[in-house]
Amino acid sequence: MVNPLLSDNALPPFDEISIEHFEPAIDQVLQDNRLLIDKLLSDGADTWESLVYPLETANDRLNNVWSVISHYNGVLNSEALREIYKKLIGKLTQYQTEVGQNKALYLAYRHLQESEAGQKLEGPQRKALDNILRDFTLSGVGLDDQDKQRFSELKQTLSSLTNHFSENVLDATQGWTRHIVNADELQGLPDSAMALLSSFATEQAYDNGYLLTLDAPCYQPVMTYCDSRELREELYQAYMTRASDQGPHAGKWDNSDNIQQIMATRQKLATLLSFDNYAERSLATKMASSVDEVVDFLEQLAGKSMAAARQQFDALQAFAAEEYGLSQLEMWDIPYYSEKLRQQLFDVSQEALKPYFPVSVVLNGLFQVVARLFEVEIEEDAQVQVWHSDVRYYRLSRSSKAFAGFYLDLYARKHKRGGAWMGDCRVRRRLADGTLQQPVAFLTCNFTPPVDGKDSLLTHDEVTTLFHEFGHGLHHMLTKIEVSDVSGISGVPWDVVELPSQFLENWCWQEESIRLISAHHETGESLPKALLDKMLTAKHFQSAMQMMRQLEFALFDITLHRDFSELASTDVLAVLDAVREKVSVKIPPAYARFSHSFSHIFAGGYAAGYYSYKWAEVLAADAFSKFEEQGIFNLQVGRAFREHILEVGGSQDAMEMFVAFRGRKPSVEPLLVQSGIDVGIQS
Ligand code: ZN
Repeated sequence: MVNPLLSDNALPPFDEISIEHFEPAIDQVLQDNRLLIDKLLSDGADTWESLVYPLETANDRLNNVWSVISHYNGVLNSEALREIYKKLIGKLTQYQTEVGQNKALYLAYRHLQESEAGQKLEGPQRKALDNILRDFTLSGVGLDDQDKQRFSELKQTLSSLTNHFSENVLDATQGWTRHIVNADELQGLPDSAMALLSSFATEQAYDNGYLLTLDAPCYQPVMTYCDSRELREELYQAYMTRASDQGPHAGKWDNSDNIQQIMATRQKLATLLSFDNYAERSLATKMASSVDEVVDFLEQLAGKSMAAARQQFDALQAFAAEEYGLSQLEMWDIPYYSEKLRQQLFDVSQEALKPYFPVSVVLNGLFQVVARLFEVEIEEDAQVQVWHSDVRYYRLSRSSKAFAGFYLDLYARKHKRGGAWMGDCRVRRRLADGTLQQPVAFLTCNFTPPVDGKDSLLTHDEVTTLFHEFGHGLHHMLTKIEVSDVSGISGVPWDVVELPSQFLENWCWQEESIRLISAHHETGESLPKALLDKMLTAKHFQSAMQMMRQLEFALFDITLHRDFSELASTDVLAVLDAVREKVSVKIPPAYARFSHSFSHIFAGGYAAGYYSYKWAEVLAADAFSKFEEQGIFNLQVGRAFREHILEVGGSQDAMEMFVAFRGRKPSVEPLLVQSGIDVGIQS
């Protein structure tokens, strides 16, 4: 019996796959791959055809198996699967570390790079080889034995430090609760939030009342709606001092020392790899070419947004003073009065928009948008096997020639992870028999399922989410590259990945495209212009203040990773204070310890990379501005975007690729304009 996960079919045979196939398939592939590597090395393989291609093929086979397993983990989770998944992650990590540390393999690649044949490689092959060698270098394989040992010790240390950081944040978040008996204290909260807080109390075995916690589903509604200023202040203080030397649990889960050690360890790792600092190390794999470039970029955005942010803050302060007699706006007042002001100015509820967005209309409209922009036909194929009856499979074709496909899993259900994402199922590449493996994507959302066979109605936020994920999908599916390491989204730098996704969201906000994607489920009328205008104004509400907040985080992250020095005993809080001096409209109280729970950079993958959010937003807005100039359905511009951005995947330098499309380097102005931040008033 052949394991169905290892079948050669173009698409996974979902009808035959079950979780007992997972572990044997992975074991088989890893064993085959290890044998292959040994054989290639003993054969002295050192050309593209004898070394790189066979390994690419082996890795692609692994990817085809793993993509299905990790997809099941996301959409058909179970206790049993979770166990196997954890075990397999362990095996996979072990294998990857082994390969990354294989010096003989590294030397074989180096040999190829330095050979005459290697020098002649170009295009996607050149880029793929450069990436492979870069990643080898960054994994420390090129170091001498002593440094290599030290490198892996530092890695271990860093991993346990960051893990400890997360645990402290989690424990501190869960370690604080406040029981409230009298509902009057929570006046202002919507019913849904009251019900949630009451359920928290029941869960913790209280007979009655409500339980406040520091989790987002509690923190956000209380800060936004609760009339009691004292309670908001108390919650703010508990939240902003989590895992620190301040606040109600001062010192208990304190990350102060952890942060110092994480930074010191990163600095040592960077030095071992011959970087000046960890910020440089982070940028080695990104589009931004230098730390200065990132800092300049962020400061430029800050400079152009600051005046508008101050105006917005002053307007809020004036509103709170006039309408509510508040003399001084504090941090715990900002979300509360912002919500009051927003409601007064332009309240558009997501619920009110839903009748205009039945899911079938939206999907059809999305496909039309994509057809007009990128000359792609999208058609369902009901014959393809899927993992759940909700799932649909669609084929992409041009001039009647199918070239890609995607699975669409739209609705929330039990055992499916929340949120929305795009994952690859198959990556486009040239196969040994000369044919092409077509790219296939998994597109997953969590919309409300249809009831009684009626179309689900989507909020506008959900429509935007669908476009966002479809943008990722197009990046994966429209690629023309045949080398899997740089095909589709593979090998695309982190600060560029969100370009196509945020780019496509724009078609949810344009009158011309709204007509295609909306039709009232009873009247068939598309979303009225007046309502769209109102939504746009609401979208721009306090956009400069939000911009400054993101810039504060990003500047703190990049400057800390550039300037940190253990010897000079860098004071992390002082670095944050210095950033705030420059970019904050309101300085938080001295006890606030935002850094102590900033998991993105101290425990997640965003160390010296938080700027990526804004960077990709700027690229997306600037790319879209070319459509605004020449028509949002201009076919020439659509073709150019396809050819220079979507089709090349990770095979080219990202800046060159962008310049080829836009005719110049990215500009921050379009993002400011699209955010409703007036750039004209900088006189
Ligand atoms: Zn995304």
